[in-house]
Amino acid sequence: MTTKHVLVLGAGAAGTAAARALAPSEDVRVTLVARTGEIPYTRMLVKGVAFGPTPPEMIRLPLPDVEVLADTVAEVDAAARRVGLASGAHPDYDALVVATGSAPRMLSADVLGEEAAASGRVSALHSLEDAQQIRALLTGLGRPARVAVHGGGIIAAETASTLHADGHDVVLVARSEVPGVAAFGAPVAEHLAAEHAERVTTRFGRTLQHVDAADAGVETTLDDGPGSSRTCC
Ligand SMILES: Cc1cc2nc3c(=O)[nH]c(=O)nc-3n(C[C@H](O)[C@H](O)[C@H](O)COP(=O)(O)OP(=O)(O)OC[C@H]3O[C@@H](n4cnc5c(N)ncnc54)[C@H](O)[C@@H]3O)c2cc1C
Repeated sequence: MTTKHVLVLGAGAAGTAAARALAPSEDVRVTLVARTGEIPYTRMLVKGVAFGPTPPEMIRLPLPDVEVLADTVAEVDAAARRVGLASGAHPDYDALVVATGSAPRMLSADVLGEEAAASGRVSALHSLEDAQQIRALLTGLGRPARVAVHGGGIIAAETASTLHADGHDVVLVARSEVPGVAAFGAPVAEHLAAEHAERVTTRFGRTLQHVDAADAGVETTLDDGPGSSRTCC
């Protein structure tokens, strides 16, 4: 029997699930590439680390019983069926599973000022490191924080609700007048927007123009038509 080598790139939920499903096949040898220095974890649970009592070790992903390379993918040569890893290794493959996930869309440099970026007060909520940074910041203040949440999706909405329930003063900013209308349809999205407006300060239909360092943290400037509104968080 000819054994095929399947190389799985990325040890998140998708990569570990693919490797685990393929592992029992007798005609397949599986190698999983897990990013250098990263202990694989379930990304959807980082919220519990940022805002809840979840310790980072609780969200670790169990690794499947396959060969695991702790390395970072630098390039894929599809013609040669070979992957270049940061360590200099070049494993060959018969089949490749790319499960390297997504990346957050960060604020551009003309919106996020250098000092604000360096302040440690502006973060995405995507990685375990982001979650730990947010947790350290919120607990380190020792008082309710003023937090601007920027985004119109489920994660932003859930984050705003959680922070509000924890006693923080939240401003939820979204470009859309009715966030989520494409995903949920108008009746549900309008209901959610109204629920948010009762609990947190909403700035829907607004664009973030600048984030600048300020005495007490950072200050955001929104496009409110003529003039602009400023929020300190
Ligand atoms: C804050 C937050 C909350 C969420 N909540 C939910 C939820 O409640 N329910 C839900 O269903 N979904 C939720 N999601 C979405 C869910 O987390 C993703 O759909 C899921 O993580 C996708 O899994 P994945 O394995 O494709 O990608 P990822 O989990 O991103 O895993 C990709 C892996 O590939 C690695 N990688 C990337 N580049 C390289 C490289 N060059 N070399 C080697 N490794 C690399 C990464 O380090 C990572 O380990 C949430 C996401 C976020 C950010």
